[in-house]
Amino acid sequence: MRERERRVLVVEDEPTIAESVAARLRAEGFAVDIARDGPGAVAAAGATRPDVVVLDVMLPGFDGLEVCRRIQAERPVPVLMLTARDDETDVLVGLGVGADDYLTKPFSIRELAARVHALLRRVERARADSAAPIVLGELEVNPAERRVRLAGAEVHLTPTEFDLLVHLANRPRAVQPRERLLAEIWGWGEAAGTRTVDSHVKALRRKLGADLIRTVHGVGYALEVNDTGVTS
Ligand code: CA
Repeated sequence: MRERERRVLVVEDEPTIAESVAARLRAEGFAVDIARDGPGAVAAAGATRPDVVVLDVMLPGFDGLEVCRRIQAERPVPVLMLTARDDETDVLVGLGVGADDYLTKPFSIRELAARVHALLRRVERARADSAAPIVLGELEVNPAERRVRLAGAEVHLTPTEFDLLVHLANRPRAVQPRERLLAEIWGWGEAAGTRTVDSHVKALRRKLGADLIRTVHGVGYALEVNDTGVTS
């Protein structure tokens, strides 16, 4: 099982720029979606749940600032904003529009790709740093180190298995719908892919014990807490 593809939404109304940016990012292993105006960008961000948004300021419909506000209100996502001039960047930074980085046109595609990678690294590091270890009975999940121990022994999980376990362990005993797990871990909105969730749950059970995850038929999964390892 391979690591989930990172998804980038490119919002740019000039087709040549949009296509060349998309081609470069795809070549670097990203899944890329393109939106060409403000309303389209907001809709696409909701539908595809990108890991990074590359956002032009001047757009038909409403501008990049408004797009940035609307998508950040829905879900925090790193934004790399494309500006027409350096002084425009200064103005936007001053306004605090919520973009994480800025790039002035004309830019090199190589530079843009490097910025996207850097943004992802920054966000993922921050996410890992803020995650405290979770201890549930004999199970210990350490998100910062991406390590799992069961009764003291280290268990090796794939990145996706690990993310799934963290989601379940964050709310032990609570039933988590398969559709939500799919959307949060794989970034897919549609229910058709829920079998992906099932196969990863199967893998976790194989590695961590069949009783660890309970199936709630027709709904989803819940992590069962085994308290035998808890000492007072
Ligand atoms: Ca434009």
